[in-house]
Amino acid sequence: MRSVWGAGLGKAGVFSFLTGLFAVIVIGFGLMGGLAISQPPPVPGNGVPSGASVDRPVVTGKPNEHFPVGVAASGIQVPGSVRQGEVLKVRVNDLSRFARASSNGTVTLANRKAELFPQQDGSLLAMVPVSVFQTPGSYALKVFDPGDNLVNTYKVTIQDAHYRTQNVTVSKTTEGLQPLPGELEAIQALKDTISAVKYWSEPFMSPTVDCQNSPFGVKRLHNGIPTGDYHKGVDLRSPAGRPIHAISGGKVQIARMYRLHGGTVGLDHGQGIGSIYIHMSRLNVKPGDMVKKGDVIGYVGSTGFATGPHLHWGMYVSGLPVNPNQWIADVPKCR
Ligand SMILES: [Zn+2]
Repeated sequence: MRSVWGAGLGKAGVFSFLTGLFAVIVIGFGLMGGLAISQPPPVPGNGVPSGASVDRPVVTGKPNEHFPVGVAASGIQVPGSVRQGEVLKVRVNDLSRFARASSNGTVTLANRKAELFPQQDGSLLAMVPVSVFQTPGSYALKVFDPGDNLVNTYKVTIQDAHYRTQNVTVSKTTEGLQPLPGELEAIQALKDTISAVKYWSEPFMSPTVDCQNSPFGVKRLHNGIPTGDYHKGVDLRSPAGRPIHAISGGKVQIARMYRLHGGTVGLDHGQGIGSIYIHMSRLNVKPGDMVKKGDVIGYVGSTGFATGPHLHWGMYVSGLPVNPNQWIADVPKCR
């Protein structure tokens, strides 16, 4: 099952997408004072600057703090554990088995594969994503050289992230909505993009200065029935008109006013990392643009299937939605 914000949707997934989207808003408003879900969908492009204070400092993640380095063995650093929905960094320091050929080798864990990419310090780095749905336990992480020969196997524990489950009452009005032609495909393509060039560098920055009012990974039920779906990003309680910043350098792959996602920007940060920002009132970039960390890519709105202004920010690594808080762990939760 694929769904909200990012994933390719099958027919079943479209319904799941919609319900998931509704769920986010419900959760958000539940924390904001209980606006009714029955409020009519907003008109796209209705974001109005609120004049809210923007004098809080920009929140920036601290590199390495949330990514265990691991113990080096055979010149390869592999952390011993990773949580569901997060990313394991595998670094190769001894390149004797990794002569730069057409590829740099790969890493596999729990049926996911991530490529090793060259870094500025001369090492190779693989960002290995773990699914929210991966059963916790002990797994074999395997490192393969460019010839696809097994170099070494490591034991990695996938830990239970204890994502909550939430039930949402879904309006019938969600059922008839359809995405624009190509909308879901474009977002699936962003998720699957793995460019060899590296545009990103740490630390990343939060796309807005605001607090988070819906976390990544919340498992969804609607009308009491499990959807098999979950929240594929975080929601920032940002007022309409708030500038949205690129979390790191990247190439604009999506910049379009969609029907379901609303105003959407998708960035390819290179080497398998992507980010997406939806419900924008206005876009400030176009496809093909190169952006630097901090550039304003658009403005917060409530377009698409949203009942109020907020920013949904998602991240993808090697084809999987992952928890943005692993990069930006210092964004405050809304009170
Ligand atoms: Zn969201």
